[in-house]
Amino acid sequence: MLLRPFGNIASLQAYIAAPPMPTPILIVEDEPAIAETLVYALSTDGYAPVWRTTGREALAAMGNMDFALAILDVGLPDINGFDLFRQMQRISDMPVIFLTARSGEVDRIVGLEIGADDYISKPFSPREVCARVRTVLRRLGKAESSAARNASTANQPFVVDDEKKSIAYHGMPLDLSKIEYRLLKTLLERPGRVYSREELMQKAWDHPESSLDRTVDAHIKQLRSKLKAVRADDDAIQTHRGIGYSLKTPA
Ligand code: CA
Repeated sequence: MLLRPFGNIASLQAYIAAPPMPTPILIVEDEPAIAETLVYALSTDGYAPVWRTTGREALAAMGNMDFALAILDVGLPDINGFDLFRQMQRISDMPVIFLTARSGEVDRIVGLEIGADDYISKPFSPREVCARVRTVLRRLGKAESSAARNASTANQPFVVDDEKKSIAYHGMPLDLSKIEYRLLKTLLERPGRVYSREELMQKAWDHPESSLDRTVDAHIKQLRSKLKAVRADDDAIQTHRGIGYSLKTPA
């Protein structure tokens, strides 16, 4: 088993960061000039834009992280924006704002069956886009919960709240005992590092000397089942036979 220390302090801090992260917005637009304008405007406004140029890439991105909202160009190289929208709806209920270049498209969005949350006609001002994004998020009440939603983004399934002594996993607050909280927090300090039962006991128990070694296993088992209840397919805690436990490193 290879022990992989964290590459640098910044990535470690990002991993266990408690402060809320910016709301991720998916931009699907094949024209770089337009996309770059959007990326810049949204970043400046405190969002975390992710830009993809095709429908296929957009769907792949959605498989990797949760977005609070998507901005979707109707005219994409590989798929019609409306068809992409329908595919996206099958995997996410996030709101969508369409970017349209032709008035005929507007008619379709406004008048027909498309369940878009808003649309913006090209050319547009970046400020207008940010304002629309804010409005849609506020309307849907997603802005408030975005911090929790962000916990499930990409490589950071855990968010530690030191003050409340709580840890969220994939956006879900975990109901942990004191020992479980300390165990998980210890593992989170250095993902990939293997902690022996002895080390974990020293960190998590008030009186480790009066505890039996196997109780670590029992608490880890309990902790695991709580994590599995949130995300059954994600084995966050790894067992190292005869050694101890580690937290899975971010992909
Ligand atoms: Ca286009």
